[in-house]
Amino acid sequence: MADAPQEFDVIVIGAGISGLYQLYRLRELGLTVRVLEAGTGVGGTWYWNRYPGARFDSESYSYGYSFSKELLEEWDWTEHFSPQPETLRYLNFVADKFDLRRDIQFRSRVAAAHYSDDRRGWDITLEDGSRFRSRFLITAIGPLSAPTMPRIPGIDSFKGRSFHTGKWPHEAVTFEGKRVAVIGTGATGVQTIQEVAKTVGHLTIFQRTPNWCAPLHNGKISKEEMAGIRAEYPAIFKRCQETFSCFLHTPDPRSALEVSDEEREAFFEKLYAEKGFGIWQGNFKDILTDRKANALISDFVARKIRQRVKDQAVAEKLIPKNHGFGTRRVPLETRYYEVYNQPNVKLVDINETPIERVTENGIKTSDREYEFDIIIYATGFDAITGSFDRIDIEGEGGLKLKQHWKGGPQTYLGVMVEGFPNMMMLMGPHTALGNIPRSIEYNVEWVTDLIRYARDHQISRIAATPAGVKSWTDHVKSLGVGLLSNEIDSWMTGINRNVEGKDTRIIARYSGSAPAYRERCDAVAANDYRELALA
Ligand code: NAP
Repeated sequence: MADAPQEFDVIVIGAGISGLYQLYRLRELGLTVRVLEAGTGVGGTWYWNRYPGARFDSESYSYGYSFSKELLEEWDWTEHFSPQPETLRYLNFVADKFDLRRDIQFRSRVAAAHYSDDRRGWDITLEDGSRFRSRFLITAIGPLSAPTMPRIPGIDSFKGRSFHTGKWPHEAVTFEGKRVAVIGTGATGVQTIQEVAKTVGHLTIFQRTPNWCAPLHNGKISKEEMAGIRAEYPAIFKRCQETFSCFLHTPDPRSALEVSDEEREAFFEKLYAEKGFGIWQGNFKDILTDRKANALISDFVARKIRQRVKDQAVAEKLIPKNHGFGTRRVPLETRYYEVYNQPNVKLVDINETPIERVTENGIKTSDREYEFDIIIYATGFDAITGSFDRIDIEGEGGLKLKQHWKGGPQTYLGVMVEGFPNMMMLMGPHTALGNIPRSIEYNVEWVTDLIRYARDHQISRIAATPAGVKSWTDHVKSLGVGLLSNEIDSWMTGINRNVEGKDTRIIARYSGSAPAYRERCDAVAANDYRELALA
């Protein structure tokens, strides 16, 4: 006979940044919690994405948790944009400091979660068949955690080593003297390429769509500098609370069209020379909504690419032609464009010479076969809804979440879904993402308050209402109107042609301001969650 299910008040899926913090907060409520994590360690994104060159694109000191003064006192960041190994150390440090591991079960991939209205709770089954029961189910599965391989014939026939960046091995991979291919030039591909190029024998990059990249301007943080940052933490986190997307950068109130050419050029130059996302998130207010304004910044960055890449034919291939600057996620880079000046680096535009198949020895395009020792797939994720689709999530009356969201997600505040009582999503569709740990902390605290309210009022069933879901989903859709990014194919608009059925653009992200999102959620809480059906 199968073992009886283990029972908890709350099951949390995922021990990344959200799952860890959610566990910490739920413990304070005195609830029994089990976190189920597929990996062998904590860290989520930073556990899986060990590819060479992986690092933050947000300033480290704006990215770490802000909830514990002690933690802020104890942890030193050593770089302005922390590299993956340091971030993973940090998350392990957090897990140890708050003794979180005792409630986390590793090597535990959730296969199914089914709601039972008789019990007002969830039945959770792991891939290995073990079972759990809980009143509440919290998904902390991340918006970018379902890696996808390209649909190219012959991938399994390759005799060399191949890796998807999101499933990078734990042991070191070396590139000295090796012939390496990278497929994909998103934020991940760009970080990988610039790092691999430092030591590789020969590197070939297969590019389908170039992205508009901008300099990261990373640097070390000295002990003295860290002391200064520590003293500034209250101001740093206050600023992140106030900005549009919780970054240190926020849009300039001017239009790109209202200033003189000289003033505009000087501002663009200043942003291009500054650290981080300023050029994307701190630019003129209309570069992401007005085509003319967008064309001005696109032209500026195109000129930079032409200056930095020696071979102008290559430079032209690296300049995006089908979308404007910032309408897809801007990869931040360190000498990325200079990589293409190296004699041992080749750019293959697969629009000109499409990949036909992966062979035993390498990659065959329409004009020749390339031989490789290593192929790196930096081909991205089935984003936002993909990690949900990979779990058989069933709500009331056998309703499957995957089916329910077929035409695009419908949510209440990005946290709950009609027909799926007692399930709360952290960083689900329709929430404010931005500088993600800042959004996570808010999201977790809101969910914790809701569960506390339920506990204090003997409520065992929390459900989103049809009216609540319709109003939030319509609101999210209306916020997306006029955004140039919603007219472009990218993971942000739900497109991934490597996945069946993900070829139609959807509004998957909340694109309003983070302060407005918080204000709306705070009002719901202040009004005793009357917009939810509580029983
Ligand atoms: P991505 O932006 O979706 O990029 C995937 C790349 O693979 C694209 O260049 C895509 O080309 C290419 N590709 C996919 N399928 C292909 C195929 N069949 N043939 C050829 N090329 C193919 O994914 P990502 O780079 O992993 O980044 C995803 C997101 O993760 C980022 O936007 C960012 O939000 C996050 N991220 C963050 C950091 C950080 O904070 N530092 C670092 C990395 C990633 P097309 O564009 O033509 O589809």
